[in-house]
Amino acid sequence: MSTVYNFCAGPAMLPAPVLAKAQQELLDWQGLGVSVMEVSHRGAPFIALATQSEKDLRSLMNIPDNYKVLFMHGGGRGQFAAVVNNFLGDNGRALYLLTGQWSSSAAEEAVRLVGDAAIDTLNIVEQQDGLNKVVLPQLTGAADKYRYVHYCPNETVDGIEIFDYLDSPWPIVADMSSTIMSREVDVSKFGLIYAGAQKNIGPSGLTLVIVREDLLELPVVHPSSIMDYRIAAAKDSMFNTPPTFAWYLAAEVFKWLKSNGGVAAMEKTNVAKAELLYHCIDSLPFYKNGVVAANRSRMNVTFQLADESLDKTFLKEAEAQGLVALKGHRIVGGMRASIYNAMPLEGVQKLVEFMTAFAAKHS
Ligand code: PLP
Repeated sequence: MSTVYNFCAGPAMLPAPVLAKAQQELLDWQGLGVSVMEVSHRGAPFIALATQSEKDLRSLMNIPDNYKVLFMHGGGRGQFAAVVNNFLGDNGRALYLLTGQWSSSAAEEAVRLVGDAAIDTLNIVEQQDGLNKVVLPQLTGAADKYRYVHYCPNETVDGIEIFDYLDSPWPIVADMSSTIMSREVDVSKFGLIYAGAQKNIGPSGLTLVIVREDLLELPVVHPSSIMDYRIAAAKDSMFNTPPTFAWYLAAEVFKWLKSNGGVAAMEKTNVAKAELLYHCIDSLPFYKNGVVAANRSRMNVTFQLADESLDKTFLKEAEAQGLVALKGHRIVGGMRASIYNAMPLEGVQKLVEFMTAFAAKHS
């Protein structure tokens, strides 16, 4: 079978060597004669995996000691609720910065749980010459006005990324589902980072939470036990049965990242991949992108064909060449190439060759 490059936004492709290793180990993990899916999460072999995975993640992201790392269930949307349930008890209020689909969904969930009087929203996307541009707000106010400010540094659907740090008097909660470990970030700037695993970490369902310890001291609230950060932290993410196979694959992805130069090396390749693709879009009038250069997502490159009637043909011809899942999100239409860590530079080169040839053929 010739190589297939999968540009799906999530669940996304995993590094090929990780899948090959998992396939090899599927029926016999660590010589135990059974799969990792079949062993107790409380047994020594799995505990060792869990401990090593946290250690690897801490070193990959340079996570300070005063942060807990939690491996939870429920995906990004689970965290939309968990953040509210953990932090907004006792009449707490929060500010949500809006930049697109996912930050808006997070805000909607917060309103659903605690009502709109407790949630302020602020749209921070402006139009500049017809392009979307993020304008970071000056956040000022009493330290106790909000328990946290929530934002989404990379809008997977809209292809908008925020590279600058927010300056805020309130703890910053960031939904990093589609940007985590694609570039270096200073974790100490954040109160809490969460990410659904299915883009840069591993299979869907598993969810990573990195939380500053002092935030676990906020006034007593009553989230469900399964979503309670305090319980998850106290039980080393094993209050109940964690998604063990997903955790195993995430642990393998962390090892793969470490042996390939870590996050700094990923960032370098990710910059090269994104530049190549945006350069193709900008240099051919056949394609367009609607985001200012400073906020173009490195992970989710959205683009439209100038002639929308060619969309279907574009997708069909791309697929025939092994370039799959390029259809844009149903809400925004057009095309989207998601080029997470596991997408090799060759995949983007092949896409650019295809796009150039397609434009020449149909112009
Ligand atoms: N946040 C972001 C930025 C996402 O891209 C997604 C899903 O693609 C979600 C949240 C929702 O994640 P999940 O489907 O794991 O609930």
